[in-house]
This record gives sequence, C-alpha cells and structure tokens, in this order.
Amino acid sequence: LIAGTPDAEIVAVGSELLTPSRLDTNSLWITDRLNLLGVEVVGKLIIGDDRNRLAAAVSSALTRTPIIIVTGGLGPTEDDVTRDAVAQALKRRIEFRQDLCDQIADRFARMNRPMAEINKRQAWAIAGSAALPNPNGTAPGLWIEDAGRIVMLLPGPPRELKPMFTDHCEARLRAALPELHIATVQFRVAGIGESDLDALISPVYMQYTNPVTTVLAAPGDVQVHLRARCASQQEARALVNEVGAQVETLLGDRIYSRNGDPLEAALGHLLRERGETLSVAESCTGGLLGERITSVAGSSDYFRGGFLTYTNEIKAALLGIDRDLLAKHTAVSEPVALAMAAGARERTKSTYALSVTGYAGPDDGQGVPVGQVFLGLASAQSVQAREVRFIGDRERIRSLAAITAMDWLRRRLMR
Ligand code: ATP
Repeated sequence: LIAGTPDAEIVAVGSELLTPSRLDTNSLWITDRLNLLGVEVVGKLIIGDDRNRLAAAVSSALTRTPIIIVTGGLGPTEDDVTRDAVAQALKRRIEFRQDLCDQIADRFARMNRPMAEINKRQAWAIAGSAALPNPNGTAPGLWIEDAGRIVMLLPGPPRELKPMFTDHCEARLRAALPELHIATVQFRVAGIGESDLDALISPVYMQYTNPVTTVLAAPGDVQVHLRARCASQQEARALVNEVGAQVETLLGDRIYSRNGDPLEAALGHLLRERGETLSVAESCTGGLLGERITSVAGSSDYFRGGFLTYTNEIKAALLGIDRDLLAKHTAVSEPVALAMAAGARERTKSTYALSVTGYAGPDDGQGVPVGQVFLGLASAQSVQAREVRFIGDRERIRSLAAITAMDWLRRRLMR
C-alpha cells in the first residue's frame, strides 16, 4: 500500500496536553514501536480539542506523510472531536455502525452498568474505516486506508492505546509497508562534549542519509545512535557497520559501551574480567560515586567500599590523612586527592582506589573557584592526581566529577 518512504506523523489530541500538567507520552511509545517496523516519525503535533484546527492539521499532514496516527479525543463527550475532524480532513462521511454499538452495549452489560445514551456516539465511524477492538475501553480505534496513505485513530489512555496498537495496528502496518529491515548501533561516549564530538564525526555521518545518525547528549554522557533501514537485514547491518567502524576509529577509547550499558557497568565489566577490585574516597560528591558504582547489580564482585569524608577531621580520622597536609594545602588540592586515594586503597586492600575532592558550589571556597575538582587514582604501581574544572550548577559538577573519575579508571584498564 505504501509505495515511497514509510514515514509517519503523530497527532496527539487533547487540550490537557497543552497544559504543563499533562505530557504526551503516547507518541514516544508509538515512535519506539514504529521504529522497530522501519517507520521513522518525521513530525509530531499536539492539538487541543478543536475540530477545525484538528481537521486542518490532519489535512496538511496528509499532503506530505503517508502514515498519520491520531491519538485521543475518541471519547463520548462533546469535546471529543477526533472522528469528525479526521472525517472532514479525508472528506468522508461518518456512519452509524450497529455492530460497534452492540459491542459497546455488550461491554456495559458485562460491567453490569447501563449504557449512557452519549456512548452511542462512539459507534459512529468514518466511512470505509475498519474498527479496531478496544478490550480496555469503550472507544474503538479506526484504521483508514486512503489513496496510498494510512490514518489510524487511537484512544488516548495509554492502557487502551498500547494493546490496540500492538494487537491490531502492527500486523496491518507490516502488511502495508515495503519490505524493510532495521539495524542499529549505539555508542555511549565519555570525555568529550556534544559539540566537539559532533565536529569530529559529522564529516563521516553527513555523507550518509542511510543510516540516520542521531547524537544525544546529557552532561558527561553523549550517545551516538546509527539506524539503517534497508530491504534486507544483511544490507542494513552492512551499512551501520560501515559507518559505525568509521565513527569508532574517530572516537577510539572514548567509547565505553556499544550495547547501551552505562559507564558504571562498563567499568564494572572490566574490573570483573580482570578479577580486580575498587574502593572510593569521596568529598564533594557525597557518595554519588559509590552510588553509581553500586547501582550495577553484582557490583559486590569488584567494589569493596567507600569513605564519605566531608570534613577535614573525618578525612584525617578515616583515611589517615596528615592534618598538617590538610592545613597546608586545604582539602581541595592535589596532595589531598592523592592522600585520599592512597588511604582508601590501603584501608580496603583494593586493587584501585578513586578519590574526589572539590568545590561543587554555589559559593566558592576561599578563593578556589566553583567547579574546581581534584581526582586521585591509586594502584599498586602509582598514585596519581588530576585537576579538572567543570562549569555548571552543583548537581552537574558533582555528577561530572563522578563520571570523570570512573572514566579515568576505565580508560586506564582499557590500555
Ligand atoms: P476516552 O474514551 O477514555 O475518553 P479518548 O480517546 O477520548 O478516550 P482522551 O479523552 O483524549 O482519550 O484522553 C483520556 C486520557 O488519556 C487523558 O486524560 C490522559 O490521561 C490520557 N492521554 C490522552 N492522550 C495522551 C497522550 N498523548 N499521552 C499520554 N496520555 C494521554
């Protein structure tokens, strides 16, 4: 049925979705399911409960995109305008279907409740549409094929929409689509910002429209997703591998996972493989580093423990740091980062120890700027420190400090 590129647009209907209190989550879920079928979502729209506005939106989507999915506004009340608006956009009639009415009546009978007159509105369907059963609600969905295009009308509540889509839309879609296979590669990268990463790899991925490359960024964690769609799985795999290999060469050991694993899991994997152990000594991260490391199931195989040493007294008491050293250099200093790592390693008898000391702000510490952090890494061979400077708020600085510490050890173990 669909001849060209099987792209989709999603229209979420509901005035509540235009307020700060309700989020359109349906479209995210649908996008994920569509992508698995080789369908890209090329546009999304949120429209309030306004028939003419919705009809105009659907009309214009129909001129450019072959698959349109409209969610919500199928209820029985006056403000549920989806059926009428889409009929208007498709220039089709609305017709009463006795079989749908019987099904709705049957549902009320099973719930032992009288069916309100207004529920009959849900038995009206767009002429030529196929009704999609809704075992979890009263409103049936509608499936319409129209001149090489597909329009789906799905109920708004996620617990009604999801089973309807998987049980009734996916098989129909698959049958309507050209043979398509998807192959994906996902790199997670540390130690480089989004814009530097993009500058580095865009000369490669810009040469290809297939696979599609997406760069997703969060502080300290950039992800590169490649997705190829081809007529065969073999072709799609070959294409993502071709581009993926070039991206890998450019990013080198900054790539810490290829399977979606977070940094702490990648680090844990390396430690377990080598039969080595880790401990931590933290100041400004306040336990965040230990928290991240232990968020991985099975981390007790390699993580021995940590010291949360916030004040100088506790640094001295728990890690054995010389009080004179603390007085001379202050807690946020290279010598203290070194002593913290060495102290933690010695006390836990771990193979490695990481330490973090810094100013997370918002106030600076006696002339030391906010974001100034010293990291320490102790091993049997050496104790080293690194000075790093992060910009951002307290939360971001603490998070980047924990990430940078873990990534330092990870890269050491990769060598
Ligand atoms: P009903 O038959 O239950 O009235 P409907 O198709 O008319 O279904 P709406 O009335 O538009 O659906 O939405 C019902 C509820 O579903 C909303 O209050 C909201 O909680 C949820 N919902 C609607 N649209 C979305 C969306 N895009 N993402 C997440 N939730 C949604």
